[in-house]
Amino acid sequence: MDNPNINKEAMFKLSYGLSVLTAEDEGKDNGCIINTCIQVAENPTVVVIAVNKDGLTHDMIAKTKKFNVSMLDESTPLSVFEHFGFQSGRTVNKFENPVYGAKKSENGVYYLSEYTNAYLSGYVTEMIDLGSHTLFIATVVKAEKFADTASLTYNYYSKNIKPAPAAQAKGWVCKICGYVYEGEELPEDFICPLCKHPATDFEKIV
Ligand code: FE
Repeated sequence: MDNPNINKEAMFKLSYGLSVLTAEDEGKDNGCIINTCIQVAENPTVVVIAVNKDGLTHDMIAKTKKFNVSMLDESTPLSVFEHFGFQSGRTVNKFENPVYGAKKSENGVYYLSEYTNAYLSGYVTEMIDLGSHTLFIATVVKAEKFADTASLTYNYYSKNIKPAPAAQAKGWVCKICGYVYEGEELPEDFICPLCKHPATDFEKIV
């Protein structure tokens, strides 16, 4: 699967903003973390999001065509990532209790008003199969700003929010979420239990 011509470190030099992607289907609410919401046109206002097919949010958006994206800011604590990113909506109702100032927008989908500086509502007009992910192309039907705080980039998250591996830990650490696998050898087919990234996203703790 790994292409030797592609240096993963090179790919990490791309800059991303982090946000919470939410969906609603027949009374069920769910959300996950994404780093792939990009505005790609202005008139009309169009965004794209790429969503992992393994997640429940993916299936909900593919079916209902609607979603919200809440833009996280630099005040975001790790708990937001633990809540939305490190557990699955298939086993946990992430909106069972009121979380992070969640409110419903006109499309019936939750958005977050805490640790965020804005949100948008999208309506999907096109879906493109990209293998692991689906690319959703969507018209923005609503966008609102809450604050002028700095938006959270993946780089900032990585340096300031992601937990540092324990000093004495031996083994392998997930470069995406910080999960530590204890053991000398990491199995090649290992999947991070928190963020679902593969063994190639782990590095040995030295
Ligand atoms: Fe991970």
